[in-house]
Amino acid sequence: MYSYTETSGFFGQTSPELLAERYGTPLYVYNESILRERIREMKGILKEESFTVNYSIKTNSNLSILKIALEEGLNADAMSPGEIHVLLKAGFPADRIFYVCNNVSDEEMRFAIEKGIMTSLDSVAQIRRFGRLNPGGRCAVRINPGIGDGHHKKVITAGKHTKFAVAENDIDDAIKAAKEYDLKIVGVNQHIGSLFMDPGYFLEALRSFLSLAECFPGLEFVDFGGGFGIPYRKLSGEKRLDLNDFSAKLTDIVHEWRQINGAKIMIKSEPGRYIAAECGVILGRVHAIKNNYEEKYVGTDIGMNVLVRPSMYNVWHDIEIYRDGKAVDDTFGSEAVTVVGNICETGDVLAANRILPVIREGDLVCVLDAGAYGYSMASSYNNRLRPAEVMICSDGKDRLIRRREELDDLLALFP
Ligand SMILES: *Cc1c(COP(=O)(O)O)cnc(C)c1O
Repeated sequence: MYSYTETSGFFGQTSPELLAERYGTPLYVYNESILRERIREMKGILKEESFTVNYSIKTNSNLSILKIALEEGLNADAMSPGEIHVLLKAGFPADRIFYVCNNVSDEEMRFAIEKGIMTSLDSVAQIRRFGRLNPGGRCAVRINPGIGDGHHKKVITAGKHTKFAVAENDIDDAIKAAKEYDLKIVGVNQHIGSLFMDPGYFLEALRSFLSLAECFPGLEFVDFGGGFGIPYRKLSGEKRLDLNDFSAKLTDIVHEWRQINGAKIMIKSEPGRYIAAECGVILGRVHAIKNNYEEKYVGTDIGMNVLVRPSMYNVWHDIEIYRDGKAVDDTFGSEAVTVVGNICETGDVLAANRILPVIREGDLVCVLDAGAYGYSMASSYNNRLRPAEVMICSDGKDRLIRRREELDDLLALFP
């Protein structure tokens, strides 16, 4: 049976057992080489010079990961003042940060304006608000190309059923509102949703987006968003997004558009998941196994507070089992089990009815592809402590990059 972590040398010079002993579980573990490889792949998707990759940091905003992104030459997308704050702390200059916000207050807009950060506005109301605060200023507008795509309706962010962006029929009003305050719209952006494996809709939306961009004279950049998918079922052979094919089609469309609309316009992208998902796994420990009526439950310390994606979106994460320092295969049999966490909710399910090698108490569970929307969506629900994060550096050594929360952290905010 194929093991992703063994085949990729994910744990470098250490091992799941050593990591669990040293840092405890649950534990987020990242691999620096895989992270850098994914970043470089994203930088190569458009064969054009004026192209930047903005890492969408809501995916994973660990400071060490942000510093690697900066070193690799990425720019960054922030969704909140908190994300702007950590980006500045990580060393990103203001002109490499793009604030893609929605429904924000004067205070939040002022925060970005004072720091000189380009802001994308996603409604006529927000353009007016920005104009009142910063007349004569520069901004971008997020437009909805009328086509969305994604792995779940909660993450489709364009088309007819979403709160995001300025719809085609409101573009004139958006331009008028900007004029009232003498605002210069220097960029347009879109993001149609998260996780496509077949780029058909994305490319269709891109064409529609680029033609809508022509409504805005004097653009300095167009930003076609993120959403590039990763194979969450790699253990059963799911294929990767074909980046060569995608890149060729993307480059053709952009090239053709540029010939009419000027070579100087900067093209931007906003990948998140593609960059961070596969470089991260979660290690957890099996503490109890039992049968409840017909079902066999494997009880671990990876609760929905550690990784919420399976309970929130009902999605699949591949799971590997480690025992005595090795990935366990199905030589000694496999069976259907439901892998659960330690939170007091029936919905606290990591994997339902999953065929896995026969598991024993004390085994380590390794959840794959957890680097994106993993820790960044973790919480302290049930007053559980958020886990530590460790990086397996390019030299194969492990380094703590965020400490585990302590009990007193749960009391830190009370007067
Ligand atoms: C979340 C988000 C992204 C990143 O999406 P991925 O699917 O993780 O690539 C890009 N742009 C915007 C505006 C987002 O909200």
